[in-house]
Amino acid sequence: MNQPAILWLRRDLRRHDHPALLKAHEDAGSAGVLPLFVIDPVLWKSAGPARRGWLAATLKATNSAYADRLVIRLGDPSVVVPKVARELGAARVHVTRETTPYGARRDARIAAALNDAEVELVETGTPYAVGPGLISNGSGKPYKVFTPFSKAWREHGWPAPAQVDRVRWATADSDGRVDAMLDKAIREAPELPPAGEDAAMQRWHEFLEDIADYGDDRDRPDRDATSRLSPYLKYGVLHPRTLLAEAPKSKRADRYVTELAWREFYADVLHHNPKSAWHDLNPLGIPYDEPDETFEAWKDGRTGFPIVDAGMRQLNETGWMHNRVRMITASFLTKDLHVWWPHGARYFLDRLIDGDIASNNHGWQWVAGTGTDAAPYFRVFNPTTQGEKFDPQGEYVKRWIPELGTDEYPDPIVDHKAEREETLRRYEHRGH
Ligand SMILES: Cc1cc2nc3c(=O)[nH]c(=O)nc-3n(C[C@H](O)[C@H](O)[C@H](O)COP(=O)(O)OP(=O)(O)OC[C@H]3O[C@@H](n4cnc5c(N)ncnc54)[C@H](O)[C@@H]3O)c2cc1C
Repeated sequence: MNQPAILWLRRDLRRHDHPALLKAHEDAGSAGVLPLFVIDPVLWKSAGPARRGWLAATLKATNSAYADRLVIRLGDPSVVVPKVARELGAARVHVTRETTPYGARRDARIAAALNDAEVELVETGTPYAVGPGLISNGSGKPYKVFTPFSKAWREHGWPAPAQVDRVRWATADSDGRVDAMLDKAIREAPELPPAGEDAAMQRWHEFLEDIADYGDDRDRPDRDATSRLSPYLKYGVLHPRTLLAEAPKSKRADRYVTELAWREFYADVLHHNPKSAWHDLNPLGIPYDEPDETFEAWKDGRTGFPIVDAGMRQLNETGWMHNRVRMITASFLTKDLHVWWPHGARYFLDRLIDGDIASNNHGWQWVAGTGTDAAPYFRVFNPTTQGEKFDPQGEYVKRWIPELGTDEYPDPIVDHKAEREETLRRYEHRGH
């Protein structure tokens, strides 16, 4: 006789193209699969309102997709997951394999706790088209540079989407506090994109109509030219494999596939270098300044550099920022204010609804010049010319800074030319 199985959801909050769900279903059969999500109160409290609201709305949409059977409990997962397994009499807990340093450590701990209770943790698939760690170069080593990685990644290929049709569900109660918590988080959040798999697929199909323009327009923050799928990819509401299966096989659409490859590359780099989550992958050996009131001005979007301020306000008000502007704001913090990148990366992660440790922290390191495949140290973005080039009519900055051009808008807090020289000076004297 089959025993019920648990599907513990984390970064795979979807119903379709879900290999771990398929495995759980094959395992449990008529005994039923219990879909479970555990909110860790420590992480919940540390997230900003947009992030909390986005998770809450995504969980509600997931619950609907799971025929209202999603069980949500509160607490430390290493206590909660074994407890639910005992309650249900489950022999196995199915998960999508987590590859971030924190996730992998947590899962190893929980696998051991479950093992003591004679319950097995079964890992199937990852949030990536090609699981981190699977691609290596001719000498069996991980790639350190993006272009050869992406070539090998394409050559490796990925499986077709996994279809899961009818599933019998097992049932259990959610924590009684959850509904009120989620409702409050949604109320307190800024306006967010529509949550859930159907909304994500709709966005993707709309984007597909314009994908041919993506290569030309993706650097323009004044245009809605990118897919804006990152908040869905963050929680696995869509699997990249689904996108790769549907992306047209044309040279123009290929640019989009390359961007998805960046996400996979950074996950791979982080998997091989767990310490690079919060430390320089390739330290420059230069001194940094302690964050002071200029850091506060950067956070609030009051630096007097319109493209920087517009980006920070877009982040603060919506939980998302355009990629080009992420690069400009990150460059400003690290190279004009000389602040070490983890300070900025932490601020982004607390606020971004797509906040992802691999893409964010390696995106920061790319800009700071400490990462794999980093921009050369002498590439210091000029916030004024970047604005002129990528927001030529100033539509983006006007959208986010209503007081632009009035006395209320601050003067620049630093002299860019002088700070650029200071960055180059520090680099030239590195190690002294
Ligand atoms: C300082 C900095 C911080 C960043 N932090 C994050 C983060 O926390 N989470 C995140 O998902 N992305 C991050 N990025 C990468 C990129 O800015 C976002 O993925 C992108 O802006 C999301 O918008 P989109 O979905 O419209 O992108 P699109 O242009 O439509 O790209 C499609 C998808 O490709 C992936 N992608 C695109 N560019 C990159 C990139 N440079 N690195 C990794 N993946 C990429 C994303 O999954 C994205 O959804 C960061 C970049 C920088 C420079």
